[in-house]
Amino acid sequence: MGNRGTSNCLLNFGEQEGATGWLIGKPGQGLRQMFTMMNEARISVGMGAAALAYRGYRQSLRYAQERTQGRAQGDKIGPPVAIIEHVDVRRMLLQQKVYAEGALALCLYCANLVDQSDDEAEALLALLTPVAKSWPSEFGLIANDLAIQVHGGYGYTRDFDVEQLWRDNRLNPIHEGTTGIQAIDLLGRKLLLSDGKAIELLRARITQTSERAQAAGRYKKFAWELLSFWKNVADTLDGLKAQAPNTFDDATLFLRAFGHGVIAWLWLDQAMVAAELAETPFHMGIDHACRYFFENDLPQARSWLSVVAQHSTLVRKMPIEAFA
Ligand SMILES: Cc1cc2nc3c(=O)[nH]c(=O)nc-3n(C[C@H](O)[C@H](O)[C@H](O)COP(=O)(O)OP(=O)(O)OC[C@H]3O[C@@H](n4cnc5c(N)ncnc54)[C@H](O)[C@@H]3O)c2cc1C
Repeated sequence: MGNRGTSNCLLNFGEQEGATGWLIGKPGQGLRQMFTMMNEARISVGMGAAALAYRGYRQSLRYAQERTQGRAQGDKIGPPVAIIEHVDVRRMLLQQKVYAEGALALCLYCANLVDQSDDEAEALLALLTPVAKSWPSEFGLIANDLAIQVHGGYGYTRDFDVEQLWRDNRLNPIHEGTTGIQAIDLLGRKLLLSDGKAIELLRARITQTSERAQAAGRYKKFAWELLSFWKNVADTLDGLKAQAPNTFDDATLFLRAFGHGVIAWLWLDQAMVAAELAETPFHMGIDHACRYFFENDLPQARSWLSVVAQHSTLVRKMPIEAFA
């Protein structure tokens, strides 16, 4: 499909006269060493995906302000209005905003953990790395899809950048470990096979934000919903432990739900900060985005989580020959 604006090369070592390799670390630890580089690459992929999503949002926002089509609701004779006047278009813009800026918030949160680099930050970063890699990649791509949709037929052409943004972003759920591999990493190494300290740290931070929201009397309902969502995550994990060997069947669905839980927390946190500041369009945007995520997106995550918790064996038991 073409990944543009990136320098790529393939190195073939030793085609002519052989090549010399140097051992880094102890023998048998190669994969471990490689992951030092890989983890950084994974967070960078998430950041790239967030940037592409954000660019698509800004471009489709500008287009929606300029493009005229259709009349204002209830108006039969007036001139055509800018498409941003149509609520359905504004919904597509807001959905992009919550995905793009939510993804950016997650990546910046992880960057901050890299800077802190104490034991607590390292544990949290390890837990959040598969999320920071996959959530922006998956939902940034949906944002870019919506950016095309806002452009209508023009979005499908190469005359506008949004086509390229989608094409470039389509790589991100694939390289540096596909979403499916990130899901196994999160559910396996980072949760079920770990000592559980990292998830406790994360839940403590989420609880802190929720309690702050409750104490301030603002976003009380969302704070309660967030806590109840994370209680569901913990219960689902307990249930999954008993499901071996089927534990990983719905890992991707679990990762998606887990990611939504993290993003919901970051939106609430941002909205709490914005609420303390002057009421500018920028801060109003944060407030609306937070509300939209809790009203529109978190309920979807709850339904994904309930599918995981049901431990359905439908897919597992479908005979491979039935994929006819
Ligand atoms: C544009 C582009 C640039 C790239 N650049 C580089 C680069 O610079 N360096 C480099 O080393 N690589 C690069 N890659 C390769 C990239 O990292 C791989 O394509 C990627 O890791 C997926 O591996 P694969 O293609 O072998 O897919 P596969 O491993 O065959 O995966 C196919 C599907 O099966 C699923 N799957 C595989 N194994 C499992 C499992 N155990 N459980 C559940 N599901 C599973 C995957 O999630 C995926 O959906 C690049 C790829 C592309 C497209």
